Parts: sequence; structure tokens; C-alpha cells
Amino acid sequence: MSDPGASDPGARVSGAHWWDPDRANHLAARPRFCPNCGDAVTGAEGISVEYWEADRKVFHTWCNTCGWAGDIVRIQRMVGHEPED
Ligand SMILES: [Zn+2]
Repeated sequence: MSDPGASDPGARVSGAHWWDPDRANHLAARPRFCPNCGDAVTGAEGISVEYWEADRKVFHTWCNTCGWAGDIVRIQRMVGHEPED
């Protein structure tokens, strides 16, 4: 059985589990590239661990290439301001 959400299409799956939808969502939403150097952070190139703060998904991510580590949060809307000229 292959895993359609995996970066490796040949990844082995041990069978259907109750957590499969969460796993597929994690694989689809996780960061793929380092925000500091742009290298991949999937597989052996880094790690991205998901945790939750209420209804907000946070991906604690580490890059093996440059050593950057931090939290990445996907947002739907950003409110900011522009400084006066
Ligand atoms: Zn990096």
C-alpha cells in the first residue's frame, strides 16, 4: 500500500489506522524548505514536528544544512501596518 501524502511515493504504510487523516494532513501542510537558506527540510535534510496551540498548527522545524531552527505557522490572514514615508 502506498501513501499518497508522502514525499516518497513508494513509502510503505502498515495499513489503515484511525490517525491516517491527521497523518495525511501533516504531510500535506508541513514545511518543505528552510526559511533561512531554502534547502529542503524533509527527510534526512531536516525535521518538522507538528504541535498545536489551541486551533493553530505550529511546525517546529530544523534545517540540517544551515542549522536554523524555529517555529513555522501557516496563516490565513495577516494584519500589519505600513510606516509613514
Ligand atoms: Zn537552512
